[in-house]
Amino acid sequence: MIVQPKVRGFICTTAHPEGCKAFVKEQIDYVKAQPKTEGPKKVLVIGASMGYGLSSRIAAAYSCGAATLGVIFDRNGSEKRTGTAGWYNTAAFESFAKADGLYARTVNGDAYSKAVKDEVISIIREDLGKVDMVIYSLAAPKRVLPDGTVCNSVLKTTNKPYTNKTIDLKSRTISEVTIEPATAEEIDATVKVMGGEDWRDWIEALSAADVLVKDAVTVAYSYIGPELTHPIYLDGSIGRAKAHLYQTAQEMNEQLSDIHAYVSVNKALVTQSSAAIPVVPLYISILYKVMKEKGLHEGCIEQMYRLFHDKLYGIAVRTDTDGYIRLDDYEMQPDVQEEVSAIWNTLSNDNLAANTDLDGYWSDFYRLFGFGANNVNYDADTEVVVPIAHVE
Ligand code: NAD
Repeated sequence: MIVQPKVRGFICTTAHPEGCKAFVKEQIDYVKAQPKTEGPKKVLVIGASMGYGLSSRIAAAYSCGAATLGVIFDRNGSEKRTGTAGWYNTAAFESFAKADGLYARTVNGDAYSKAVKDEVISIIREDLGKVDMVIYSLAAPKRVLPDGTVCNSVLKTTNKPYTNKTIDLKSRTISEVTIEPATAEEIDATVKVMGGEDWRDWIEALSAADVLVKDAVTVAYSYIGPELTHPIYLDGSIGRAKAHLYQTAQEMNEQLSDIHAYVSVNKALVTQSSAAIPVVPLYISILYKVMKEKGLHEGCIEQMYRLFHDKLYGIAVRTDTDGYIRLDDYEMQPDVQEEVSAIWNTLSNDNLAANTDLDGYWSDFYRLFGFGANNVNYDADTEVVVPIAHVE
């Protein structure tokens, strides 16, 4: 199949296997070039196929030499359509890991389900004995509860409507958007999907099955961001879920012996999930410009490497006074935020191109789906059915 990008709204419905492979290799090469980390040796990554989860898996494997077991929810290609980028990323990761003598195995299914948890536990027993780290990096629009109820996550405010600038990425025009408040039911559902309940279910299931080492570390990811995004993020329905995630970390630390749970606050980046949030893509386009100019810009892999090497292992764990690990430290630097805010306040359709990095935004967006790699011929026929060696 000749695979070209097909963008529909916030997502691209095609993915390029060779391109995904090239970008996974780029991340691996980045980590290989950094000093090693004396870190975990057997790592479970839940949400391992894209974004921060994929980069966590790569950092654990290539900085610490860890065996990794990934949980993904993806689809291989068929005669008619391409697979998901997450499938191709995982296939690439597994083939590189195998060539480099690293254990890698993957479970493909709904991480919220008991069946997937049971399968993961039996693989850990079979292959690894116990794991010493669990990364929880799910970003999902919905969760199916055991009784079949479907909870949908929403991206809304929580008290009153919020109006601010947003961008139509396709036409590159700014307009105003008003985001309506979520209902109490919508907030509860968002907390069910993106809060800490399923994280805790995972840790309790692993602990009950005795497949966690003593003093195992578990990390989940969050975002805080500047005031201009607070109504839609920190104080919005997703922020309620993130507050629950943080509260869950504290409760696990208090109530479960031998577990060290952390929430790492990461930088705003273009991923499949963040593209769907109103206001945020425009903020990201300004942030990219400011951070690139200051030489502070990072992608997922640079941050996940820093998580292992500078924040969690080989040193006393570095947290802020609230107990959060801060990988958004560069994003939140006062000089960065002052510049972003000055641009935001004067931004219009007339000065958009000069004050934002929309090209950088689009380039990162296409990269998510394997498009834009230098050494890939996108006009050539490519095999879209790609096996993953160890997928259940
Ligand atoms: P992403 O969309 O790139 O990746 C999410 C992963 O979860 C994918 O691998 C996807 O396949 C997997 N997944 C989704 N539903 C699943 C299911 N039911 N079962 C198994 N796997 C499933 O998202 P991301 O941006 O990397 O987000 C990961 C975490 O990082 C989230 O908690 C997010 O809130 C947080 N975070 C993101 C940003 C950002 O700007 N993107 C910033 C800070 C924190």
